[in-house]
Amino acid sequence: MQTEKVIKRDNKYVLRTYARSQVVLAEGHGMTAADPDGKRYLDFTSGIGVNSLGYCHPAWVQAVCDQAATLQHTSNLYYTAPCGKLAKKLCRRTGMDAVFFGNSGAEANEGAIKAARKYATDTYGAARNKVITLVNSFHGRTLATLTATGQDVFHQYFGPFPGNFAYVPAGDFAALRDAADDTACAVMLELVQGEGGVVALDADYVAKVAEFCKKRDLVLIVDEVQTGVGRTGKFLACEHFDLRPDIVTLAKGLGGGLPIGAVLMTAKIAEHMGPGTHGSTFGGNPVVCAGALAVLDAMDEDFMDNVLTQAARLRAGLKTLPHVTEVSGLGLMVGIALEDGIKAADVRAACEKEGLLVLTAKTRLRLLPPLILTETDVDAALDTLRTVLEKF
Ligand SMILES: *Cc1c(COP(=O)(O)O)cnc(C)c1O
Repeated sequence: MQTEKVIKRDNKYVLRTYARSQVVLAEGHGMTAADPDGKRYLDFTSGIGVNSLGYCHPAWVQAVCDQAATLQHTSNLYYTAPCGKLAKKLCRRTGMDAVFFGNSGAEANEGAIKAARKYATDTYGAARNKVITLVNSFHGRTLATLTATGQDVFHQYFGPFPGNFAYVPAGDFAALRDAADDTACAVMLELVQGEGGVVALDADYVAKVAEFCKKRDLVLIVDEVQTGVGRTGKFLACEHFDLRPDIVTLAKGLGGGLPIGAVLMTAKIAEHMGPGTHGSTFGGNPVVCAGALAVLDAMDEDFMDNVLTQAARLRAGLKTLPHVTEVSGLGLMVGIALEDGIKAADVRAACEKEGLLVLTAKTRLRLLPPLILTETDVDAALDTLRTVLEKF
């Protein structure tokens, strides 16, 4: 079998840093993927929130192929049109003033931390460098973003870690205020903690934090690497919270499947990032930017309405399933809490056997379907989940 061959070779030569399902995906179209032996899967993971337009969306494929056949890369010493077009569209859509492009979520957050510290250092002196993040957050795998990640399990083995990060429990405003001493320069948060279990922040808490940051001139960084680019039914999750941060980071869904990270910022912060302060060989690559432009072009009002409609249908359906105690998150970022004694990983494995790909986050099942899903896809996923859960 092709599947076994692929798995065996990978296990021999690729670093074993992932706990993987014994699934090989060879091709995909829209909402479904198939393994090399022809088994088909309805995909409610979208490559962890990446394939926002599903597999091989025709407009995306066309844009990427055309650009690859025209000019695949040049250094950032020269200008190319796709990069500027994407930056303009992102700024128009988010109300931000300037963008830096990198290649991943972690890199985007790294850039955000650098920009915040540069602003604070220039404005108040180098002692002002503390970054406050939330307990249970996830911000990436580089050393600085691992440090920013408010989970002790990530703070092992790789030290020494960069200094002056502090962690406060989500929802506890007094703790955040206490952590914000004279050295504080920034607050960084996810509006819906993704890897931390699909937990949305409380709107009053977010409003208080924003007001406090404004008063103390702390740089407010919102990590929208997972929540951004339509995932929650608005282009940014910030829109649900009526929030105007200083910096927003994007990545996962932005490229439609190609690696990209973006740090969006207001002019006040951008002013401090002059020549030589930051850079990336691949950042702003024309092929990747052409793919991202196709993603943004697809996301018109009807597209967003569909995200909200299908999210509501999915959430309502999930609440009627056996053993489900809570449905969390926002839009198509869905967490499913299960009764004690039912392990999310076991349910995930059972779904896989039935041809449905789902994710887990902490103790919850997690769904991050492509944003193009239809009523038929929602109902098919609910049917499979019901069949699977009835056996637990
Ligand atoms: C996935 C994720 C990251 C890290 O993104 P990479 O592309 O894996 O570096 C950072 N922040 C959040 C909120 C994420 O969900």
